[in-house]
Amino acid sequence: MKRIGVLTSGGDTPGMNAAIRSVFKTGVDMDMQVMGIYHGYKGLIEGRVDYLGHADVESKMHKGGTILRTARSEEFKTKEGQKRALNVLRAYGIEGLIVIGGDGSFRGADVLSGYGIPVVGIPGTIDNDMGYTDFTIGFDTAVNNVMNEIYKIRDTMRAHDRVGVIEVMGHRCGDIALWAGISGAADLILVPERPMPWAEAADMLAANKLRGQLTSIVMIAEGAGKAEDFCKFVRENTDVEIKATVLGYIQRGGNPSAFDRVLAAKFGQRAVELLADNNGGRAVGISKNSIIDVSLTEAVETKDRFDDKLYDLNTIMAKF
Ligand code: ATP
Repeated sequence: MKRIGVLTSGGDTPGMNAAIRSVFKTGVDMDMQVMGIYHGYKGLIEGRVDYLGHADVESKMHKGGTILRTARSEEFKTKEGQKRALNVLRAYGIEGLIVIGGDGSFRGADVLSGYGIPVVGIPGTIDNDMGYTDFTIGFDTAVNNVMNEIYKIRDTMRAHDRVGVIEVMGHRCGDIALWAGISGAADLILVPERPMPWAEAADMLAANKLRGQLTSIVMIAEGAGKAEDFCKFVRENTDVEIKATVLGYIQRGGNPSAFDRVLAAKFGQRAVELLADNNGGRAVGISKNSIIDVSLTEAVETKDRFDDKLYDLNTIMAKF
């Protein structure tokens, strides 16, 4: 394979630039030309393709976001859009494609593979909601971002003897709330995978107050409800003083952690190696600390796993 393309798709994640750098360097080392496709599948359809150079990948490697920009494209979900994308790949002589994104982007990659173009997916999403891989690029950075905010919020909550509720990303997956909660010593973690009646949670906070623990930290993943609604419920049913903070996009910004950079580098290398072997229709991942690859179909169909043991550990640690 002499010429490959790389694009980023869906939500941006810290570490995407590190993955692009690894794809570029590994590709060049294998005598390939590496082309950047800008604005995801939307840009692919519109022919926004350009050569990548050493300067492009080096200057922003340590930064969040993505030098290739990202987008979502409804048109790419249609047969006409997919045909336009294929025509662009053919026009530029791109023989293989690497897609960095979440499970929606992987579904798109799987569709393209079905047309006979070798495509490899690199998992990039802060939610860590892809069951075939232990970690996705960006998750570790997002957890660190949240953990740092927890301590700031705890300081001000303690000064006022208040409970702080921190809402983090994760519609279907509570991993950010769980990992940030464990690392930030949260007292209660509300996630969609382990639904807890709000009355039970409110009773717990009221009991903490009776015991003299006036400040508690509650992590809530979006999928378990809105922080503001939870606070309203607690105020209506207890005498606990409680305030909500919604962290929003700061979770996704900032420089990637060392873990995410190294993971991105390893994923990028394996993705290019797969294309060099003409082995398309694959998704790279990490399992038991080893880089793996599975079919794109398996990657999108594997149900996400929740670490119940880690969740229960937090319950134990928050007891005393
Ligand atoms: P994030 O986890 O950040 O949301 P994602 O990759 O899951 O990332 P999506 O918006 O779900 O983000 O998908 C990105 C793009 O992938 C879509 O805009 C669309 O172009 C393409 N895509 C998603 N699902 C399909 C599908 N079933 N068939 C073809 N293309 C798809």
